[in-house]
Amino acid sequence: MSYPYAYDAPVSQTLFDRAAAVTPGGVNSPVRAFRAVGGTPRFMVSGSGPYLKDADGRAYVDLVCSWGPMILGHAHPEVIAAVQTAVARGTSFGTPGEGEVELAEEIVARVAPVEQVRLVSSGTEATMSAIRLARGFTGRAKVIKFAGCYHGHVDALLAAAGSGVATFGLPDTPGVTGAQAGDTVVLPYNDLGQVRAAFAAHPGEIACVITEASPGNMGVVPPAEGFNQGLADLCRENGALYISDEVMTGFRVSRAGWYGIDGVRPDLMTFGKVMGGGFPAAAFGGRADVMAHLAPAGPVYQAGTLSGNPVATAAGLAQLRLLDDAAYATVDRVAAEVSGLVSEALAKEGVAHSLQTAGNMFSVFFTEGRVTDYDAAKRQESFRFTAFFHSMLAQGVYLPPSAFESWFVSTAHDAAAIERIAAALPAAARAAAEATA
Ligand code: PLP
Repeated sequence: MSYPYAYDAPVSQTLFDRAAAVTPGGVNSPVRAFRAVGGTPRFMVSGSGPYLKDADGRAYVDLVCSWGPMILGHAHPEVIAAVQTAVARGTSFGTPGEGEVELAEEIVARVAPVEQVRLVSSGTEATMSAIRLARGFTGRAKVIKFAGCYHGHVDALLAAAGSGVATFGLPDTPGVTGAQAGDTVVLPYNDLGQVRAAFAAHPGEIACVITEASPGNMGVVPPAEGFNQGLADLCRENGALYISDEVMTGFRVSRAGWYGIDGVRPDLMTFGKVMGGGFPAAAFGGRADVMAHLAPAGPVYQAGTLSGNPVATAAGLAQLRLLDDAAYATVDRVAAEVSGLVSEALAKEGVAHSLQTAGNMFSVFFTEGRVTDYDAAKRQESFRFTAFFHSMLAQGVYLPPSAFESWFVSTAHDAAAIERIAAALPAAARAAAEATA
């Protein structure tokens, strides 16, 4: 397959061929492959501030930021220094350490509903453990999740098929058994009536509702006014726990993540990405009386050899300590500027689109009208995104290789980086306008 804006990336191609021989699909996480847009994934060799450099020596303004974590840009000197200091002391002890305490204290200080927190190594582990804890705490089995929300590759949460009240999730993925997905109720996003009906259909059976605090995994689809509060209220009325997944939004959209924006109090929350400073660190936390059920304080088992790893916690702590009000103001301003430029360029070419924002996260749907749920997200003209993506890539701007992902910026996206994006947009918008299905 050829793409009008494709250019040669021979070193990446060679690496991809080698990778494909030893790794399924040539990547260690499916989103990194260019399956949705076609072409050769770029193998990156270094990052600095807002830029990434690939194995062929090309530089890109990075609008992925490692899918969220790199909110200070790449290789921030103070984060790197903290990592180097930690590494020099040893990389893992398998014992408690002060860094874990400091990181936990930082999280508790920032996010009021988190009274206690447990550190883990990935967002997937965080949501998996939060759900186990909710089930252990309530003694109930069923979980409500929303179509289009992603909570990592937890078996029970990969169920996203179908929607509607009383719809039991059927396994979307071979390897997830009916039993694993059978207690998952999948509902359309932003529809409180369906949630109310699901509680009515399963009295006393629902352990928790888990939702992305503001979804970014079907593109950016913020909660409708009152939706999160409605979920919290329904959970409380029905004896279920409200789990807000802030793996993506946590410490990114404000000091206290999405909670800092909408103030809706969850029972449990999950975190990852930004709090790890580019290392594998994640967490779940919330009400102390619920967290008290976790081993060794309580009976719900959860553990990890590398949980609270000293290098990861040092990186995360250094990053969080640099994220003051001024840093968030910068990220917000950059996001507003870049997203505005994108929308303006598309409008100039007459490309129907919906720019959607959630704090400093944003994405563009190639469709008329606002997108409020997964079905609407799927109706967009993704082929226009493909043309737009490849044109931007060829001009040195790296976007998420999918029309269903949030774009991310950092404090390091300075005037020069924004100028480079602005310069690439007219041709990319034209490519989107001229694209055919
Ligand atoms: N939850 C949300 C909202 C996410 O966006 C992600 C990852 O993108 C996860 C959970 C899973 O995190 P991880 O990839 O670290 O396992």
